[in-house]
Amino acid sequence: MKIHDVGLLASSVALLLVVSESCAILSPSGTPVVLKRTQMHMGTLVSITAVGQTNRDANEAINAGFQEVKRLEQLLSTWIPESELSRVNIAAGRKPVLVSPETMTVVQRSLQVAEMTEGAFNIAIGPAVDAWSVSAEPRIPTAAELEVLKPLMDLHAVHVNVRERTIYLEKSGMRIDVGGIGKGYAADQAVMAMKKAGGVAGVVALSGDIKTFGWLPDGNKFSVGIQHPRKEGVILAEIDLQDEAISTAGDYERFFEKDGIRYHHILDPNTLQPARGCQSVSVIAKEGVWADGLDTGIFVLGPGRGMELVEQLDDVEAIIVDQAGQVHVSSGLRNRVRILLEVEGEGRSPKP
Ligand code: AMP
Ligand code: MG
Repeated sequence: MKIHDVGLLASSVALLLVVSESCAILSPSGTPVVLKRTQMHMGTLVSITAVGQTNRDANEAINAGFQEVKRLEQLLSTWIPESELSRVNIAAGRKPVLVSPETMTVVQRSLQVAEMTEGAFNIAIGPAVDAWSVSAEPRIPTAAELEVLKPLMDLHAVHVNVRERTIYLEKSGMRIDVGGIGKGYAADQAVMAMKKAGGVAGVVALSGDIKTFGWLPDGNKFSVGIQHPRKEGVILAEIDLQDEAISTAGDYERFFEKDGIRYHHILDPNTLQPARGCQSVSVIAKEGVWADGLDTGIFVLGPGRGMELVEQLDDVEAIIVDQAGQVHVSSGLRNRVRILLEVEGEGRSPKP
C-alpha cells in the first residue's frame, strides 16, 4: 500500500503562484513594494503576498492577513478540541451551540453549496472521512461499516438558527467538517483584513485556495498556475486573476493506492466512496468561499453535471480534468486560461 499525503508538505504547489516567488522586491523609493511570507496554518502552507506603498505597509498587511487566518482556525478547525465547530460536534444529539458570525457564515454557505450541487457537497461527511482515515492510517472501510454511517450525513439534521446564532446537530455521532470550504473563506477574510491594514493589492494562498486583490505595481494581474494532477510540482495551466479567487480540489492531494486503485479524500455522499469522475477541479469565483465549496461539490458531481452547473452560475468558471485526462474549460475562460500540458487518463477504478 503506497501512502501519499501532499496535504502538509507539497500542497503549496496545488496552485502555484507564478509571479511572487521572490521574497521581497524592493523598488526605488516612491514606487510600491511587493513582499511575500509563508507560514503553516490550518494544517497547510499559507503564503501571503502584499503590495504596499512602503515596506512597512506591506508587512503590516501581511501580518493582518496571517492574524485573521489564525483567528479563523481557532473557530473552524476540527483538529482543535475547543474550536467552535468541535463544540458543535461534541454537542451533537444533545443541544444547540452558540457560535460566532464567522462560523455561522461558513456553515450557511456550506448549506447553500450543498443545495446548488444537489447534495454532492456535504459538510456532514465528517464520520465517513474518519472511517477512511485517508490522512492518518489509510484503510478501506467495509460496505457494512459505511452503511451504518449513512444516516449521519443527513443535512436536514443540521439546524441553523440565525436569530439565536446557534447550530444544532440533531443526531448523536454527527460531525460537520468544513475542510472542503473553510480555506476559501479564510482567504476572503484575510484579504479583507489586509485591505483594512493598508494593503493596496495582494494574494492569500492557503495551499490550493487562493484569493487575489488589485494588481502588481507594473500593472500586471497576479498570474496563478494550476497544478498538474499527475506530475507533482508541474504546472498544467496558467491564468491571470484580478479581484478573484481560485480553488482546486484534486485526487492527488491526499490519497493512497491499493492494488493499483487510487483512494482519495473527496467522498461521494451517495456511496461514501472516493468520487471517481475527476482528477482535479479548479473553480474561479469572486469569493473564495464559493470557489472552495464548489470545487469539492463539482468534483463529486463529475465533469458533465459539474460543468453544466458552472455554465448556469454567474461569475463562476472552471477547469476540470476528468478521469480520462481530458481538460474541460468553461465558456467564460476559453480566452483566459493557458493550458501548457496534456494529462494522461487513469488506469484502474474499483469494480462497482
Ligand atoms: P477540497 O480540497 O476543497 O476539495 O476539500 C477536501 C476536504 O473536504 C476533505 O479533506 C474532507 O475534509 C472534505 N470533504 C470530502 N468529501 C466532501 C464532500 N462530498 N462534501 C464536502 N466536504 C467534503
Ligand atoms: Mg473545496
